[in-house]
Amino acid sequence: MSETFKIGLFIDLDGVVYKDKTPIEGSIEFLKWLDERNIPYLLLTNNSYYSSQELSERLKKRGINLKPENLFTSVNATVNYLRDINKLPDPKVFIIGSPSLENAIGSLNWKRLTQEEVWENPKEVDYLVVGYNTDLTYRKLAAACLSLNEGNPTYIATNSDVTFPTTKGLIPGAGATLAFLKACSGKDPEVIGKPNPIIGLMGLEIMRQRYGEIQELIIVGDRLESDIALADALREKLRGVKVTSVLVLSGVTRDPGNSPWKIDIVLDKLYSLKPILEENLYGGEGDVERAELSV
Ligand SMILES: [Mg+2]
Repeated sequence: MSETFKIGLFIDLDGVVYKDKTPIEGSIEFLKWLDERNIPYLLLTNNSYYSSQELSERLKKRGINLKPENLFTSVNATVNYLRDINKLPDPKVFIIGSPSLENAIGSLNWKRLTQEEVWENPKEVDYLVVGYNTDLTYRKLAAACLSLNEGNPTYIATNSDVTFPTTKGLIPGAGATLAFLKACSGKDPEVIGKPNPIIGLMGLEIMRQRYGEIQELIIVGDRLESDIALADALREKLRGVKVTSVLVLSGVTRDPGNSPWKIDIVLDKLYSLKPILEENLYGGEGDVERAELSV
């Protein structure tokens, strides 16, 4: 049985497109092929240090050319989310995050509180936003803790990755800061990044606006607890969109073992998805006719 389908892909970056600053074999060719075929995709990353524009520029210096419009980071998603939920006329935000996150939230023209202002009046904080931050201090954390304990801010985190890999080994990510704040306040934030469906639903909306209805979403990633778990979370949220999860073994996961999340396809690397798509896709013009992909 064959039907007209339109697929869209969410592709993770680290461990999927590149690793240790080097492209993984075939990944750039695969993305070029998607571009040529006009197949919708978004490079969806929990990176909370850079916006899509800055990440694109940074990768370009390493010889990896990815268009900013094809990138969607948790910085972008967090700013969109803040814009969507805010109903206050003059919101005040306290940010623990990167300069990119500060700048991106700055584009909303909200009052950004300094740690001294929060320290003086912790009840003033309407939104507390936490992302990956490399110049954390005790005083900054204490100000955030005071706002959670003494005030009632809407508490939002870009992502909850506790660690992330570097060439030296694992270092603390945004999730480690969240754990610190949980220990002193007992509170958990609304998390925007994977595996929470918020970033996925936004990404799907972006693809729909560009390409029209998406009938099957293929989520490719190397991490079970973020990428593959996102597929599970979206399966529950989405009606009428088939969600297929693809685990690639080019990143942090060496062995899927007994994954608590449903893995539809396991591949050695992103490029190995090409023959599977080629076999199942035919037609063009952005409309993709295909047989069932994942049976
Ligand atoms: Mg990854």
